[in-house]
Amino acid sequence: MNELKKMYIHGEWTEATKSRTLEVTNPATGEQVGIVSFGDGADAARAIQAADMAFSSWSKMTAAKRSKFLYTLSELVRNNKKELAGIVSAEMGKPFGEALGEVMGAADNFLWYAEEAKRVYGETIPSTFPNKRIMVLKQPVGVVAAITPWNFPVNMVARKIAPALAAGCTVVLKPAESTPLSAIHLFELIEEAGFPAGVANLVIGDPESIGQEFLQNRRVRKIGFTGSTRVGKLLMEGAAQSVKRISLELGGHAPFIIFEDADLDEAVQGLFDSKFRNSGQMCICTNRLYIHEQVAEAFTAKLVERVHQVKVGDGRERGVEVGPLVNEAALTKVLGHIEDAKAKGAKVAVGGNRLTESEYAKGFFCAPTVLTNVTTEMKIWQEETFGPVVPITTFTSEDEVISLANNSQYGLAAYVYTQNNGRCFRMAESLEYGIVGINDGSPTQTQAPFGGVKESGIGREGGHYAMEEFLETKFVSFGI
Ligand code: ADP
Repeated sequence: MNELKKMYIHGEWTEATKSRTLEVTNPATGEQVGIVSFGDGADAARAIQAADMAFSSWSKMTAAKRSKFLYTLSELVRNNKKELAGIVSAEMGKPFGEALGEVMGAADNFLWYAEEAKRVYGETIPSTFPNKRIMVLKQPVGVVAAITPWNFPVNMVARKIAPALAAGCTVVLKPAESTPLSAIHLFELIEEAGFPAGVANLVIGDPESIGQEFLQNRRVRKIGFTGSTRVGKLLMEGAAQSVKRISLELGGHAPFIIFEDADLDEAVQGLFDSKFRNSGQMCICTNRLYIHEQVAEAFTAKLVERVHQVKVGDGRERGVEVGPLVNEAALTKVLGHIEDAKAKGAKVAVGGNRLTESEYAKGFFCAPTVLTNVTTEMKIWQEETFGPVVPITTFTSEDEVISLANNSQYGLAAYVYTQNNGRCFRMAESLEYGIVGINDGSPTQTQAPFGGVKESGIGREGGHYAMEEFLETKFVSFGI
């Protein structure tokens, strides 16, 4: 029996006010991997109060001192990488190697923002009047509430709380219900790093009730969210009541475009990274593959050959490239997209079914799938699939594919494979997406801005861009 894990409020491990608990299970095996205290809005209110009390001293602390805490945390995450990655694999099924990469990404984020904390520069501006001086100050926005999803349960937390803490904000984090264990371990490291009580708080529990407290509590000055467009819209609407600042990193429906002059082997690898990593459960995942008709057959053959070699299994096993989907609802949705496409005329080139034999019997496994003859009226062409399925269609000209690719309410990531320099620039400039990978299927890096346009979100994470999200600009006018 696993011991009960708790929330972290005002520097103490604490149970939910209403004593409810939640079981965490491994989606590859169905086994219980932990049990956590499951709170609600009342616990969120306690955490916000703690963060509010800590704000005054944390925001006034020198940046150099704040930086040291973040630096220590970065080292602790690095030193605990195997343990953290093991928890990630166990609670959401990610292959262990990928989970290690994610944890190292989180360590990099804490390190990056340990440095960035020291570079919050203000400005002086020449005045129109000889007897006035203009000074611009950058100051932390206040208490930040962060809500994170299950698909990158460590790094999504790091990407939100590291810049917030660096800027001098205090935080309350609510991780996803299916992945609280890695967040708890991260907070154990936060405790070990010695952050003052109340600077970083963790609440786990009912999303609606906690979300409402985040929205209604006037002490929360900023909400940072990664998740579905549906919930993002709810939060944006709710934040309007007290005009809270908000950053949203929402859904995507990435086009992946392969021109006739592309290096097809590189394109197969790029597509593989952008589609099968994390079992296709990433907001920057390819969801529409456009291949120039001249190379469609050759590319599809290479891709199908590669997909046949994929090892599917429990993320904790050596050599596994694709793990299970996070839960039954996720699997049902992905299989629904495949069935809908088949019913409307798509052809299955490989995969297309749930895996149920022996080792797969208790998990939520979908066979890596390639569909051809996909058309715009199919669900898979409109909705985010979040699974290991590649839908393929063809195109004939650059103008045509730009217009097809941009015909989406989403605008997070897009990918282009071509050897033509001029076309690289034209595509980068024409695609209405926040991130464009040119001959690159995995464009994320700590220092680069990450975020979407249209219904994919507002604001940017990553690099110095994220700092702005947690800073207010104050104009001070001196009469002299
Ligand atoms: P997904 O479909 O990927 O799980 P969600 O948007 O449902 O995406 O979940 C992302 C995060 O948002 C999770 O932490 C979840 O608990 C939280 N969440 C879900 N519904 C709400 C809500 N009504 N208010 C606040 N947070 C929510």
